[in-house]
Amino acid sequence: MTIAPERPAASSSERDTFDSLDPASGEVVASYAKQSPEQVRGAVARARTASAWWAGLGFDGRAKRLRAWKALLARRAPELAQVVTRENGKPKADAIIEIVLAVDHLDWAIRNAPRVLGPHKVSSGMLAINHAATVEYPPLGVIGVIGPWNYPVFTPMGSIAYALAAGNAVVFKPSEYTPGVGQWLADSFAEAVPDQPVFQVVTGLGETGAALCTAGVDKLAFTGSSTTGRKVMGACAETLTPVLMECGGKDALIVDDDADVAAAADAALWGGMSNAGQTCIGTERVYVTERNYDVFVRELSTQAAGLKAGTSFGPITMPAQLDIIRRHITDALDRGAHAVVGGRDSVHERFVDPVVLVDVPDDAAAITEETFGPTLTVTKVRDMDEAVEKANATGYGLAASVFSGSRGMEIARRLRCGMASVNSVIAFATIPALPFGGSGESGYGRIHGADGLKEFTSAKAIARKRFDLPVPLTSFRRPDAATRVLIGVLRTLHGRG
Ligand code: NAD
Repeated sequence: MTIAPERPAASSSERDTFDSLDPASGEVVASYAKQSPEQVRGAVARARTASAWWAGLGFDGRAKRLRAWKALLARRAPELAQVVTRENGKPKADAIIEIVLAVDHLDWAIRNAPRVLGPHKVSSGMLAINHAATVEYPPLGVIGVIGPWNYPVFTPMGSIAYALAAGNAVVFKPSEYTPGVGQWLADSFAEAVPDQPVFQVVTGLGETGAALCTAGVDKLAFTGSSTTGRKVMGACAETLTPVLMECGGKDALIVDDDADVAAAADAALWGGMSNAGQTCIGTERVYVTERNYDVFVRELSTQAAGLKAGTSFGPITMPAQLDIIRRHITDALDRGAHAVVGGRDSVHERFVDPVVLVDVPDDAAAITEETFGPTLTVTKVRDMDEAVEKANATGYGLAASVFSGSRGMEIARRLRCGMASVNSVIAFATIPALPFGGSGESGYGRIHGADGLKEFTSAKAIARKRFDLPVPLTSFRRPDAATRVLIGVLRTLHGRG
């Protein structure tokens, strides 16, 4: 079997450009500049000036301009979807879903930024009763965003839209596999907001991303693999640049005794195979109780028979991933697993057909490492305690799904992950008000929702004195008697057990 060449390697390291390729055919789509550290610093310097103008517009001024961009994105969604399909390979309908979600998130961020980030009065408490207390969330300044290729619109927009709505300028380094999508987004923004370079793109390979980490941004929002995430954190540590880490996952879907098994199989299939399994919050492992195991495997196999790479979903966007997918399948089968759908031959030159593995040992790579292909493992468990224990047993902690008739919420709360869906998959990502992010190897920090807006701000606390207390407490003029009064107040307020 021939392996497609590493795509960025198609551009020689001496060239100052690289090619974006169509993953379905290997054809060159376009060439882009490998931007140098000086060019990246230049973009950040321009963003610095633009950020002052953007912050000065206030919520209303920004909302007017962001709404113009949103309208442009909505009107030109088919054109953007075409760029996504060309560079990432996903079917156009899937590209449209991604764009619809991104626009919905942008809308939420625009509408909710004033409520979430504007000045809030908070109680000043008994001890500071003479003060008014206010908290507000001003922008950080310039946000560097580094993105992946698997959802080249939805994923980076989770940072870009929220950072812009919070009043920051953004410099975005898209994946080298989808630079055209990043460029399209920045160009469309410049058309809607021509005044200042509030949202710029820098194209390039990993080196350009590394340069962005040390270019003086006020925060770096990274989405990509845990391995690159470590490098990004290391580079950002040099300048104490704060980071937001949205990294990989190994999400589980668990099926309880009283679950709707057909619905669970349908969801597992979509969660595992859509986008050719190249979804950070995609389902990779399924745990089913003994009572439903046989029916579930039969149902999943029947439904999977209708899927085919190239029609149901696209190619593997990053050729190097083919080796990882093949290794996970081969290792599992060599160690006693069985393929109930597909098998070793399902990995082709650019596409991978659906694979469902059963009887996979718990320590096999297919269970412990991110596969990022259209594969699922299905494991029989005694009960929900065992399902939760196994679901929680990887170093990742991104998301999970629970199928249960009566205990969905209870089980969801026991899962060690940032996001969960009950009786569905991936639903949380479609709800803009819900925060998105994980723990452990999956990273930390949150995009989306109120937490996602606050992520790109720095809380500012202001205490304003309204009147003098009869006895000054924080002054060298404080009389000795004040201490006795203070002890009395302390006992009254807190001394009653
Ligand atoms: P990747 O880590 O290979 O690359 C991500 C980005 O980092 C790219 O733009 C790349 O050019 C850049 N980069 C590479 N080396 C760098 C360096 N040394 N310094 C700075 N930047 C550098 O990831 P990928 O293959 O593009 O994306 C797939 C991964 O992303 C998967 O692990 C997936 O789970 C994860 N992902 C996570 C989320 C999430 O929200 N948690 C969303 C989508 C994808």
